[in-house]
Amino acid sequence: MKIKILHLYPREMNLYADHGNVLTLKKRCEWRNIEAEVIHYEPGDKIPDDIDIIFGGGGQDSGQGKIENDLIKISPQLKQLINDGTPALVICGIYQLFGKYFETSEHKRIQGADILNITTVAGPERLIGNIVLNTPEFGEVVGYENHSGLTKLGPDTTAFGTVVKGYGNNGNDLTEGTVYKNCIGTYLHGPILPKNPRIADFLIAKALERKKQSKKLARLNDMVEQRAHSVAVSRPQ
Ligand code: GLN
Repeated sequence: MKIKILHLYPREMNLYADHGNVLTLKKRCEWRNIEAEVIHYEPGDKIPDDIDIIFGGGGQDSGQGKIENDLIKISPQLKQLINDGTPALVICGIYQLFGKYFETSEHKRIQGADILNITTVAGPERLIGNIVLNTPEFGEVVGYENHSGLTKLGPDTTAFGTVVKGYGNNGNDLTEGTVYKNCIGTYLHGPILPKNPRIADFLIAKALERKKQSKKLARLNDMVEQRAHSVAVSRPQ
């Protein structure tokens, strides 16, 4: 059994150790004797049809500008994969660009893939710090955020979680991230998966389910991960 993980734009979109999320997915597969292949996707590449998990990290406004055209080009294929139930995790910069658009503080509008029903406009100050959420699916989730973008959820769009500490989507309505089908969009860097391994296992389980390999995931000893989670939660904002 093999899982193919698509890592979108690792060159431009990889802030605050976001790459650690891919390592976590790979390791948690391998610890269960599931082979995991990571495909680094850069502008101009071809996306294989048999992708099982999609991941995209955060990036500077300039990096987002650089990938804009390519992302628009591949958006029909990404949309199809997401609508078909492919599990995905998109963080900050790619989270914003999985939405309709991101307007930078220089009033430059970067078009998104229009997969998530969200819009983002840069605010007057950066929202920076440790963040804790309450999520219906995974309970307490912890991470680190650093963004200028203020994200608004469109009508009938579900948040990923409710902010307990930190800013989240816009520092105003207490929403954080969004969930659409099996795609999670969030501002949480850190990286998010090592400290919140249930999210990693959700992505892996959904990938297996989609391959009709819905064997129950073997439990792993997550003592170190739980400790990392608790330490992160105890940090000041
Ligand atoms: N450049 C975007 C913003 O500042 C995304 C930042 C990020 O990915 N951390 O909102």
